[in-house]
Amino acid sequence: MRWIAGIRTIGQGWIPKRSYEKIQSYSHFTITIRHGDVFIKVNFGGFVSLSTIDWRGRSVCTVFLRGCPLRCSYCQNDTIQTGKDLRDIDEITGMIQTSSPFISGIIFSGGEPTLQKEALVELAAFARKKGLAVGIQTNGFYPGTLEALFDKNLVDKIAIDYKTRWEAFPGTWDGYCANENESYERNVKRSIACCRKAVAEKKLAEFEVVLTVFYENGKYIKEISDRNPDVPLVLQQGEHKITQLQGAAPGMTNGEYISIKRNLQEHYTPMTLAEIKKIADELKRTVRIRTREIGEISYYKWSNVL
Ligand code: SF4
Repeated sequence: MRWIAGIRTIGQGWIPKRSYEKIQSYSHFTITIRHGDVFIKVNFGGFVSLSTIDWRGRSVCTVFLRGCPLRCSYCQNDTIQTGKDLRDIDEITGMIQTSSPFISGIIFSGGEPTLQKEALVELAAFARKKGLAVGIQTNGFYPGTLEALFDKNLVDKIAIDYKTRWEAFPGTWDGYCANENESYERNVKRSIACCRKAVAEKKLAEFEVVLTVFYENGKYIKEISDRNPDVPLVLQQGEHKITQLQGAAPGMTNGEYISIKRNLQEHYTPMTLAEIKKIADELKRTVRIRTREIGEISYYKWSNVL
């Protein structure tokens, strides 16, 4: 989920990386009970002790929680989409404790951090006790976790990675959901609704939608923006995650790989800042733009960089 992502898109929207196996390996057993005491395990993905790019205006530490029900082709953290690295929650709180003198906030990312509801609620509560602002980067798959965090007033910022316009959810995401009974579209709609409600009730200070932009999906950005006029928008420069190519096509020869890689690099370069600004101009509102070249800026057609 974290910051600049790459993408492969076709037709109507964001196309996830095709997996050749049914996705089952994200399972998360985070609670054990011994002698009546509850012990929470964290399926750990990684830790950055100090970051100035994950939350504008703050120095934060970032905790990556392992496991995600999706398989985006542009995922920058695909090594922690699956697998298990179960740690005692005390180990993670110890890491946060070590960073706490140097930071004012904490970001939970992944993977999908809301997948581990119990662990995330406990870690957010710990961060709160340390006086840290709590931010979560999520794909919106688990609204129940967000609701639990809002109920306890444990979160200050939510950034939802908005995958595509609603019409492109069916089909695009079929077969990628963790549970066949789940609907990613329905869950994201519920997540957005509960974040809006939390903002209205002053339980959430910051809420934003992040859109990863490519030549292929640029024409849908206005539609998505118009449907979320009240939510701050971040346009993030998409970049092909070429290293995933071999994994996406078992049996591909090295020559075929190099040829496809060259083709992607030549024909599907990231949009330039000027091109992303052109898309932003059509939205007729202030947006934030993230590119590798200049980081993050606030942008509005008539005032340029704010
Ligand atoms: S939703 Fe999951 S697969 Fe997609 S970019 Fe985020 S972590 Fe990666």
